[in-house]
Amino acid sequence: MTQNITILGSSGSIGESTLDVIARHPDRYRVHALAGHARVAVLARQCQCFHPRHVVVGTAEAARQLRDLVPAATAVHHGPEALVAVAADPEVDTVMAAIVGAAGLLPTLAAVQAGKRVLLANKESLVMAGGLFMEAVRTSGAVLLPIDSEHNAIFQCLPAGYRQPAPAGVAKILLSASGGPFRDTPAAELGSVTPAQACAHPNWSMGQKISVDSATMMNKGLELIEACWLFAVTPEQVEVVIHRQSVIHSLVSYVDGSVLAQLGNPDMRTPIAHALAWPERIASGVEPLDLVGLARLDFEAPDLERFPCLRLAQQAAASGGDFPAALNAANEVAVAAFLAGQIAFTAIPQVVAGVLDRWQGSEPVDLAWVLQSDKLARELAQRQVEATRR
Ligand code: NAD
Ligand code: MG
Repeated sequence: MTQNITILGSSGSIGESTLDVIARHPDRYRVHALAGHARVAVLARQCQCFHPRHVVVGTAEAARQLRDLVPAATAVHHGPEALVAVAADPEVDTVMAAIVGAAGLLPTLAAVQAGKRVLLANKESLVMAGGLFMEAVRTSGAVLLPIDSEHNAIFQCLPAGYRQPAPAGVAKILLSASGGPFRDTPAAELGSVTPAQACAHPNWSMGQKISVDSATMMNKGLELIEACWLFAVTPEQVEVVIHRQSVIHSLVSYVDGSVLAQLGNPDMRTPIAHALAWPERIASGVEPLDLVGLARLDFEAPDLERFPCLRLAQQAAASGGDFPAALNAANEVAVAAFLAGQIAFTAIPQVVAGVLDRWQGSEPVDLAWVLQSDKLARELAQRQVEATRR
């Protein structure tokens, strides 16, 4: 049967990769709605190729521009309510949640509450509101499939058809990390690296925010929190391993000594195709892995002195409550300030630490609480940015 799909964040890196896989299987998937923020030309091209019923953009002005460029049968909408509407639309079976940052929370949660099959790339929504999010998955019957390559790998290494709680016998989750573009950069040089250098990832081509997160290793910290929610494990059960080739995407270590890994070329079309077709398998366009050509796979421990963001995320995960939401908000503000040239790369962990040091912490009881914590942490972070501004 054809799956009707909404792609939130279609104009981004994950969105484009998703459409690339979908285009290979026109008999299986139909694009019902696309959503992006401001890249009107990209969205127009996507609408001309995939003829969605709906397309959503961020502003009324972007919507006005887009209307002249899309097929007559495509309705153009704008704003956060329209994102929620296309995520929860009764005609939709599957939602790819690939908006970057906190902006993804409300539409992703709406898809979960509507009981959709949700392909989760937007890790920030789990970091911000993991408890409420997973509760909504349980009560709505939504099927949550991880797109983050590490979490998709872990999912594949768990028993088939895995749903929470974690299956007995799992000792540890080994979360692999490439180490990012600065894995060999001496600490003394990190203060002067530029946004362009931070966004030049050695193995993956990704959006700007996650590229900077990979460079600070905050990405691995966010992924640690994501893994705790997805697989019902404690932060102590998640061990980060630097693996510079990005071929082993993560591993599950069992109590009998078995360690299962998922391997593949670093190309997001593999986890995307896996989640689109699960429990079946479909072609993704990714080249087969050449193990002999690779010859070796290396592993090392992360350096928490040079990459303090990973430690900050571990601390936020251990503190629980709304600490992860504060961590996420502070990081988004700090990364935006770094990309805008306002603060140094090394000030990113300083801003985040400054917010966490002042954070009282509470247990979010509902979504409004989470959004309030997010807002408060952003205000605190903005003050830290002003204080460290160069
Ligand atoms: P990107 O910057 O390339 O794309 C982001 C998308 O979100 C764009 O379509 C943009 O228009 C949309 N967007 C941004 N702000 C918005 C707003 N306020 N309202 C509505 N839409 C908005 O980012 P990406 O690399 O594709 O990453 C998307 C998500 O997937 C992130 O959460 C990231 O952590 C996660 N992820 C990405 C990769 C990767 O390889 N790119 C891997 C794992 C996880
Ligand atoms: Mg990842």
